[in-house]
Amino acid sequence: MPELPEVETIVRGLDKRVAGETIESVWIGSRKQPFKSPAGVIAATLEGKRIVRVHRAGKHIVFDLEGEAQPKGGRAARDQTRQAASLPTAQWIVHLGMTGRLVVSEPAAEVAKHTHLIAKLASGRELRFIDPRMFGKLSVHLLSESGGFDPGGVEPLEVGEEAFVSLFRGRKTPIKSALLNQKLLRGVGNIYADESLFRAGIRPRRRAAAITRQQLGKLHSAVREVLREAIALGGSSISDYVDADGEDGFFQLQHRVYGREGEPCLTCGTAIRRIVLSSRSSHYCSKCQK
Ligand SMILES: [Zn+2]
Repeated sequence: MPELPEVETIVRGLDKRVAGETIESVWIGSRKQPFKSPAGVIAATLEGKRIVRVHRAGKHIVFDLEGEAQPKGGRAARDQTRQAASLPTAQWIVHLGMTGRLVVSEPAAEVAKHTHLIAKLASGRELRFIDPRMFGKLSVHLLSESGGFDPGGVEPLEVGEEAFVSLFRGRKTPIKSALLNQKLLRGVGNIYADESLFRAGIRPRRRAAAITRQQLGKLHSAVREVLREAIALGGSSISDYVDADGEDGFFQLQHRVYGREGEPCLTCGTAIRRIVLSSRSSHYCSKCQK
């Protein structure tokens, strides 16, 4: 499952490749599962729109779209339309789920099995959504109805220390479960939660409310540090997805505890332990983490 750093990497790749492009037409497959908004509504919302930018909200990919259908006339006509519709009017939201991919393809490239949507771009290239297991979700969000898409929770890379600490006040759940709670922090998944807790020296099973202010301050720094490092490396390559070019673009962050059960702790040599918390694996060092 792509985590926040992977989604950030994909988003940056997509923004570089398709920002400024106009979606000319949309083909949608007959499988219903990937569509949270009705297929016809998705097609009608995307067609004729210009992609202003691609950004991330938690683990969601958000395409800001503007304008009505672009006139086919010359540059002057296009500039006029751009000025008239300089604010995004809709958003296209993509959640990759377990195996979803967004690939920018040349039109001649073979259409992969499990392709559920193809957006034909004005440049001739195609943006394709492929998802074998179909846990991914596509939807559209009209900005005239409300503000921008909000998946809930706060961005772990943007939240200040005080706000971060207050998320855990009075929470009786294990700190690991609180870190994974998307209503608190959006986008922190299993790998980065384990790695952050290791760096902060906190055991995953500790009750959130019982952790000192000082330790939570360390955890705040650790979460940001781990996510930033992984983004700098282009996300970890744990799962079966590719970057916006369709290439395996990811390098592996060296995990200090995640997936290292029984191996020696890189700090003290103690064997890393694995426990199951809310049906997810948690990895920690019993000496370095208290
Ligand atoms: Zn250790």
